[in-house]
Amino acid sequence: MTDTPTAIIDAQPVTGNGTPFDVVDPATEEVIATIPGAESALVDRAVTSARAAFDKGDWRLLPVADKQKVLRDSADAIDAAADAIADIECANTGLPYSQVRGRQVGRAADNFRFFADYIGQMTAELYEQEANYLTYVRREPMGVAALISPWNSPLALGSMKIASAIAFGNSCVIKPAEQAPLGLTLMTQVIQDAGLPPGVVNLLNGLGAESGDALVRHPLIDGVSFTGGTRTGKIIMEAAGAMLKPSIMELGGKSANIIFDDADFDQALDGALIGIFTNNGQQCLAGSRILVQRGIYDRFVEAFVARAKKVRVGHPRDADTEVGPLMTRAHYDHVMSFIPAAEDAGARILAGGDRAPGFDRGYYFQPTIVEVDSNSHRLCQEEIFGPFAAIMPFDTAEEAWTIANESRFGLVSYIWSRDIAKIMEGQERIFAGTVWCNTPMIRDLHAPFGGYRESGVGAEGGRAAESFYTRQKTVSIPRRPLTLPKLGA
Ligand code: NAD
Repeated sequence: MTDTPTAIIDAQPVTGNGTPFDVVDPATEEVIATIPGAESALVDRAVTSARAAFDKGDWRLLPVADKQKVLRDSADAIDAAADAIADIECANTGLPYSQVRGRQVGRAADNFRFFADYIGQMTAELYEQEANYLTYVRREPMGVAALISPWNSPLALGSMKIASAIAFGNSCVIKPAEQAPLGLTLMTQVIQDAGLPPGVVNLLNGLGAESGDALVRHPLIDGVSFTGGTRTGKIIMEAAGAMLKPSIMELGGKSANIIFDDADFDQALDGALIGIFTNNGQQCLAGSRILVQRGIYDRFVEAFVARAKKVRVGHPRDADTEVGPLMTRAHYDHVMSFIPAAEDAGARILAGGDRAPGFDRGYYFQPTIVEVDSNSHRLCQEEIFGPFAAIMPFDTAEEAWTIANESRFGLVSYIWSRDIAKIMEGQERIFAGTVWCNTPMIRDLHAPFGGYRESGVGAEGGRAAESFYTRQKTVSIPRRPLTLPKLGA
């Protein structure tokens, strides 16, 4: 059992009195921690501490170079504790260790370094439209940010939120997902010693409807950054909106991966496998609707299915594991529920479709490919969030764009073709926040990452983060003494 606190407030671990919850290792189904949740009084304490840290100004008024040093020292502290963070994260999430160490812990440190560099490059606006005046626009921190993160990539996403919030001078309170709080809590403890004034980064563990809800609705919160499911996002956005708090919503996806006849076949094949099976298939940006042009359809399906059947499902600690267990029992049941749905609708299960063999415990699910004959099928319209792809043929580019857009989501899309004109047409026609062309997922931290439609509102990364986490203040100063009208003289 690990000893994870309910909260970190003023850099100190705190135990709460809210609803306790178990944290389970998805590979063994064993309870590895039981954490008392944060009750509303503790939420209030965390927010009040963050508010005090902000209002005193020790962090927000610190010179940029000093803030950069703290951010870089935080990254170094994460690197120094990388093994311990990766160990606990791997046990908690079931993500393969190699992916946790690189894509999660490595990215967490990178996020702090990126925003350290970013704030050193910020520029201000100056206007001289009014003849006798200099008018300039300052970027000030927004205040106290509530950060709410999901269970599928806790470290990469949680660290992105913390690093971007504090880099611009804010204080924050982060609430990790109750299913996977261990790694993010340890990371938050680790960075407390890197020079952050106490209270700048507080953390609360607890259930979403209890601690998360109290956090979002707290009157001293100035803005909310949420990553999670679309249904939760709507609830939070409504609560934040009613209090006139700005929010960003990074939500679900059901993204099209479009593979044309003229694509580099092997690259597209590798990319399609990475796009659906990385992160145990639990990724918002998964290419979960695979559209393949008719000319290569049969050949592609054959190769894709053969490779999917060989994807190594295993314990997350095994070095050759490519897909580990799903996150929770409830999520396993959710993913599994799409199998009878597929069968009922006459879809063909080409690979997987069942519990992974060889495991008597753990939420192991086989990499699954289902061939569908219509994009209106539930398999193509709902986020399954597992190693589960729907595949179908298309004939023309026009048809591909239409199918890609027949979705309430619009997070990302992938296009594979050697024809630059087709790619340029596709990136324009597809309604999605990001289009990856001839590549699986690549995230340039400068670029905004956000969804269209029900995949989100607003974006994270670089300038998008600057715009969300800061407010603009306009300052006007006369260049020389004014001759003002003398009212009442
Ligand atoms: P979720 O919506 O169930 O929970 C996310 C977080 O919200 C958790 O911390 C939870 O405790 C909290 N929460 C739940 N109800 C709340 C409430 N009423 N008030 C405040 N907080 C509340 O999502 P999840 O199951 O943890 O994550 C999976 C989802 O996240 C998927 O839909 C996935 O696509 C999405 N996701 C999106 C992105 C993106 O960048 N667009 C990235 C990763 C995951």
